[in-house]
Amino acid sequence: MTKTPFVSLEKLKEIEGRIPTPFYLYDEKGIRENVRKIKKAFSWNPGYREYFAVKATPNPTLLQILKEEGCGADCSSLTELMLSDAVGLRDGEIMFSSNDTPDEDFLLAAKLGATINLDDFTHIEILDRLAGIPETISCRYNPGGVFKASNAIMDNPGESKYGFTRTQMTEGFQKLQKLGAKNFGIHSFLASNTTGNEYYPALAGVLFQLAVDLHRETGAHISFINLSGGVGVAYRPGQTPPDILKIGREVKKVYDEILVPAGMGDVALYTEMGRFLLGPYGILVAKAIREKHIYKEYIGLDACAANLMRPAMYGAYHHITVMGKENAPCDHKYDVTGGLCENNDKFAIDRMLPKIDMGDLLVLHDAGAHGHSMGYNYNGKLRSAEVLLHEDGSFDLIRRAETPADYFATLDFPGLPKNP
Ligand SMILES: *Cc1c(COP(=O)(O)O)cnc(C)c1O
Repeated sequence: MTKTPFVSLEKLKEIEGRIPTPFYLYDEKGIRENVRKIKKAFSWNPGYREYFAVKATPNPTLLQILKEEGCGADCSSLTELMLSDAVGLRDGEIMFSSNDTPDEDFLLAAKLGATINLDDFTHIEILDRLAGIPETISCRYNPGGVFKASNAIMDNPGESKYGFTRTQMTEGFQKLQKLGAKNFGIHSFLASNTTGNEYYPALAGVLFQLAVDLHRETGAHISFINLSGGVGVAYRPGQTPPDILKIGREVKKVYDEILVPAGMGDVALYTEMGRFLLGPYGILVAKAIREKHIYKEYIGLDACAANLMRPAMYGAYHHITVMGKENAPCDHKYDVTGGLCENNDKFAIDRMLPKIDMGDLLVLHDAGAHGHSMGYNYNGKLRSAEVLLHEDGSFDLIRRAETPADYFATLDFPGLPKNP
């Protein structure tokens, strides 16, 4: 079982000639095809829109591509709102799904005309005081307890910090109605990185029934239901990726069962996918620069957990291809590491790989979402560049690598470099 990178060794060498490793590389063709497939899956719903979760990959060039394909942006912070504004997303094209929200974030969201998805009952008064309650508003729902799909426990909403309780949903809608809200949305995010096809349909069942009940209780007009993110990526070779077309069909069944008979067949569906949309279409490209032979065999890369944190943080699996050795036997067992002074800085532990030589280029797969964006500067390590590979084989630097001067930019101290 293996995974094939979307780029050849020759192309990587050409890119590396201009942009030194480590860098992230994104596949424009794959991204555009995937968005089109997602839109097709939900094309039965006339108001459908995907709001890309900006936090997954906050690069304006990528947001621009997604905008061209008809996506909006899902933001949860001031700077994510600023990015969405910069690419020209406006009004209904921005969803603001934040939590623990500072005043200035609410103010900017209101100014941009973003659709605000309130995380908490207490935020109603805060938003009213800051900017007034808009005509269209959304509330994030937390059902509590455990969330099951086909009898398997998917996650534990009772332990999650997000959303309104069931009672607060009713009270919140009533309060918002008094304050002038006319069109309501319902949002929930109950499980992350789900690789089966049952998560969205199960969530839809919960939210559609909630919409019918809230409409009956309060008379509120529900104009959209936001299934948010949570559709996963097949990080391991041999794992079956979610079938988005099937997921779309299954959600439609639930829609026809619950919403249509209630006379609510005009409700728009929204999604806020991050991982599923971009995950497989980005890779981290790094070079083997050191090897050591102690109690185990180690390969040291020029990238570290500061460039891709998921393995260190969650023990997440990212498949590795040693470029040019795709057909060589995987007869060497390595720990593949970065250079942080932290022993969890390992991209792979006891991974069977072909023999790695110094200078080999390694591809870490499925890093297109929650990859570069989770980068940090521990140990004074610098964040890597981001490169976009176009369909015709040309490529553009869409974010340069950080320099020491970037790292020191918030200090004013003699002897440290400054950017010109
Ligand atoms: C993180 C997040 C998403 C995207 O989640 P994925 O797992 O990347 O699909 C969507 N909506 C909200 C509110 C989020 O916080």
